[in-house]
Amino acid sequence: MAIDLDRCNGCNACVVACKVEHSAPNEVLLTTILEKEVGQYPNANRQFVPTLCNHCDNAPCIPVCPTKATYKRPDGIVLVNWDACIGCGACALACPYDQRHIVENESTSFPSGDGQYVNPSVHKAPRGVAMKCDFCYHRIDEGLMPACVEACPTEARIFGFVDGGDSPINKVLSRKNTFTLLPDKGAKPNVHYFSN
Ligand code: SF4
Ligand code: SF4
Ligand code: SF4
Repeated sequence: MAIDLDRCNGCNACVVACKVEHSAPNEVLLTTILEKEVGQYPNANRQFVPTLCNHCDNAPCIPVCPTKATYKRPDGIVLVNWDACIGCGACALACPYDQRHIVENESTSFPSGDGQYVNPSVHKAPRGVAMKCDFCYHRIDEGLMPACVEACPTEARIFGFVDGGDSPINKVLSRKNTFTLLPDKGAKPNVHYFSN
C-alpha cells in the first residue's frame, strides 16, 4: 500500500470502513490516523498520517510467535491464525509499529451475521486472540480493493501487487520519493508514504 499524505484529509472514512468490514471490537482500530498541527496562525495547518500493519518483509511479529499462529502468505500478507493464537501478546511486544491488538472484549457496534454492511466472509475475532490489519485478504482474493482503499474519498490510499507492471502502486513506487515509517527498525515495511 502507498499513502499520499497530500491527499489524506483526516476524515477517518477508512477507519470506519475497516471497523465495519471486520466487525472489529469497539476497543480495536486496525487503522488509525495520526494528526499533527504544523505552522502558526495564519499559516497553521494539520497533517494526517494513516497507520496500519505494514505487512513487513522482515516482520518481527512472526519469529516470536510460540504457536506459529502468525504467518506470511506467499503474496506477502501477514496473517494470524486465530485457531492457533493463544493471545500471549508476544507479537504485540515485538511489533515496532504498535499494530497488534489482543482482543479483550468482543463487543462491537458492528455484529457479524446479517448486518447490512458486514461482509459475511469475515469472521468476528474471538476474545483472547491477536488482531491486526489483514490487508482485507478476503476482498483481495475476490479481486476487490481493501475496504479502506474503497472508502477513501480522496483516493489517498493506493493498493496493489508490486510486480513491476504499470498499475498505480507500481507507478507510485517507481516514480515517487516514497518512505516508510521507522526504517531503522529493520522490519522492511510494505506500507509506503509520499507527498508531492
Ligand atoms: Fe508484524 Fe507489526 Fe510488521 Fe504488522 S507492522 S507485519 S504486526 S511487525
Ligand atoms: Fe502468536 Fe497469538 Fe501469541 Fe501473537 S498472541 S505471539 S499471534 S500466539
Ligand atoms: Fe483495515 Fe483492510 Fe485497510 Fe487493513 S487493508 S486497514 S484491514 S480496511
